[in-house]
Amino acid sequence: MTAATHSPLFPQTPDTADAVLEGLDPEQREVATALHGPVCVLAGAGTGKTRAITHRIAYGVRAGILQPSSVLAVTFTNRAAGEMRGRLRQLGAGGVQARTFHSAALRQLQYFWPKAIGGPMPRLVDRKIQLVADAAAACRIRLDRGELRDVTGEIEWCKVTQTVPADYPFAAVKAGRETPRDPAEIAQLYSAYEDVKRDRAVIDFEDVLLLTVAVLQDRQDVADQVRSQYQHFVVDEYQDVSPLQQRLLELWLGDRDNLCVVGDASQTIYSFTGATPDHLLDFRTRHPGATVVKLVRDYRSTPQVVHLANGLLAQARGRAADHRLELISQRAPGPEPVYAEYPDEPAEAEGAARRIRELMASGVRASEIAVLFRTNSQSETYEQALADAGVPYQLRGAERFFDRPEVRKAGIALRAAARFGGNDSLLDDAVDLPSQVRAVLSGEGWTTEPPAGSGAVRERWESLAALVNLAQDFSAARPGATLSDLVAELDERAGAQHAPTVEGVTLASLHSAKGLEWDVVFLVGVAEGMMPITYAKTDEQIEEERRLLYVGVTRARQHLHVSWALSRSPGGRANRRPSRFLDGLRPGSASTTAGRAAAGGPGGVERGFTSRPGVTPRRRQRTVARCRVCGRTLTDAGEMKLMRCEDCPSDMDEGLYERLREWRAVQAQRSGQPAYCVFTDKTLMAIAEAAPDDEGELTRIPGVGRRKLNRYGADVLAICAGQEPGGEEVED
Ligand code: ATP
Ligand code: MG
Repeated sequence: MTAATHSPLFPQTPDTADAVLEGLDPEQREVATALHGPVCVLAGAGTGKTRAITHRIAYGVRAGILQPSSVLAVTFTNRAAGEMRGRLRQLGAGGVQARTFHSAALRQLQYFWPKAIGGPMPRLVDRKIQLVADAAAACRIRLDRGELRDVTGEIEWCKVTQTVPADYPFAAVKAGRETPRDPAEIAQLYSAYEDVKRDRAVIDFEDVLLLTVAVLQDRQDVADQVRSQYQHFVVDEYQDVSPLQQRLLELWLGDRDNLCVVGDASQTIYSFTGATPDHLLDFRTRHPGATVVKLVRDYRSTPQVVHLANGLLAQARGRAADHRLELISQRAPGPEPVYAEYPDEPAEAEGAARRIRELMASGVRASEIAVLFRTNSQSETYEQALADAGVPYQLRGAERFFDRPEVRKAGIALRAAARFGGNDSLLDDAVDLPSQVRAVLSGEGWTTEPPAGSGAVRERWESLAALVNLAQDFSAARPGATLSDLVAELDERAGAQHAPTVEGVTLASLHSAKGLEWDVVFLVGVAEGMMPITYAKTDEQIEEERRLLYVGVTRARQHLHVSWALSRSPGGRANRRPSRFLDGLRPGSASTTAGRAAAGGPGGVERGFTSRPGVTPRRRQRTVARCRVCGRTLTDAGEMKLMRCEDCPSDMDEGLYERLREWRAVQAQRSGQPAYCVFTDKTLMAIAEAAPDDEGELTRIPGVGRRKLNRYGADVLAICAGQEPGGEEVED
């Protein structure tokens, strides 16, 4: 993995300030040299936003215009902040503060606490759940474990949106939140939670920002001191700023406007925590004199990857989508994205691991490969598959599966149950191993149905659900296995995966992959239910899921591998279908925008097929093609290739189609290429339907270009005429 800010265009520290500007395009330069007044960069993924702001700071410092200690750069994660500091040092601008909102606020709060509030600063608690449980006890409200977690999620949301307890019922309705309990009760619990914290002299994560905001608001002297220290502010990933972070930023700024923000509304993926791209999109309204720069050149990804990213955005709806910018790749062409369907999740993980081994054998470094998934609970299957394949890996944005607190606690509970099995009333009614595991884990917060809502609450449930699934798979593979056998299996897995890794394939959730890039990206589990995830119900939630996929796609520099599984476990019902977001984009799928059923048609779902090269959505839309059976205008690439609606009756000569397929298999084997590189199924079908008599007719079939005609035309026409193909291949 290479962090975006690490791309070593300047392996040496530039000699001069002007040299810092080298390697920036004209628009990026405009950003880098606009050192005063408000600046807003609206740009798509991989266009060099992070690079532009890093160079901007370095240029300002090197040119003597910015004092390093007067600049505060705010990024989204500690990792990004660390990388930005490294990059700034390398550009000759060390000493600039690059932090997250949270760490910058914490530092200020610690510094000003004695003066502004007095006494020692309260301890910062990292987990709220016990405090919420105590608050519930104080209110005499009984919450089960799932509710406890959901209520905690609601309290977090209240805090980042600066909603006080009394306003929660109204605010929750307005924001369309699915409230886990009566909103009035949640308001009461939230209020009691605040009391519990005060009594115990502790503060939570959000309090750090809230208290800093309060101090800066109430204490003019403190605000003055902070403002005299920091003169220039730069914010990366501004589309995901929460109202609370925005308030803090405004307080830091005071009445000044030396603020540079960069973001991409199409990458808003934290709305569920209260973040909103409105601050980015309304920047010019709030700062009428702002320099607004748009970047459209994508330096990260190949035209093939960019084509898919643009296609995804073309289908997006909502405010963020109204501001989308079509990306234009600056890179040489690369391989088409590969789409692969597997019967079940373990097979999908094995498939990815196998492909990764091949890539590594061909010289790709493990650290240039990432496997990205929707929920952290998917991690385990991939950890296992990579471990089995002997591929080193590292986890990002989540602890190793077996290190997660809920997994460790579940392990302890299972071990205890295994030891005292017969005497444990929990296990009384549980006959088989999966039921026993479900019984034990329900004591740890596992429920049959997933909890409402998302975020940490959902992640913890997913961890337990992954253990339940694991138990099911284990007992299916080893009938008669006991709880002790399962515990031994878990120990073995945990042990095997604790091996320290240095250079490894990155396993990360899509959320934590933000801002990063790799040569090779595997997007896994891209099926309905995961992408969009089942609990995304409203249009806004669905759109956020689409953006998440866009973030995933745009992490890839060269190779993109998109996969899904038809069922969860081996032998399970194959009732899943690929993500609706791929409709009309992956080969063989109909477009939902055309209001047609997706996939399912012949050739719609193949193993390891690739998308059709070189057709941009715009070009596709402009081409007027009509179904030769019913006359409807066709917009879907697959249907255009067939020259008819997918479900209109086919007049295909089945025998001819079979002969063409056999011929294709031989060609593919001869050239060492996959079959679809010769002709896709759709093209073969179209040929079998048209049964062309001459070259003119053959070239009219979409998918048969000049190159293919030269190479395969004679063979195909011979087969269509009922003769044996046999002519020598004509090389390109
Ligand atoms: P994201 O939206 O994913 O955060 P970004 O807009 O911040 O992306 P960067 O990460 O800054 O984009 O840049 C993407 C990649 O393109 C990096 O490898 C970067 O070094 C490279 N890059 C950016 N601008 C240029 C340029 N002008 N010339 C060459 N490479 C560039
Ligand atoms: Mg970036």
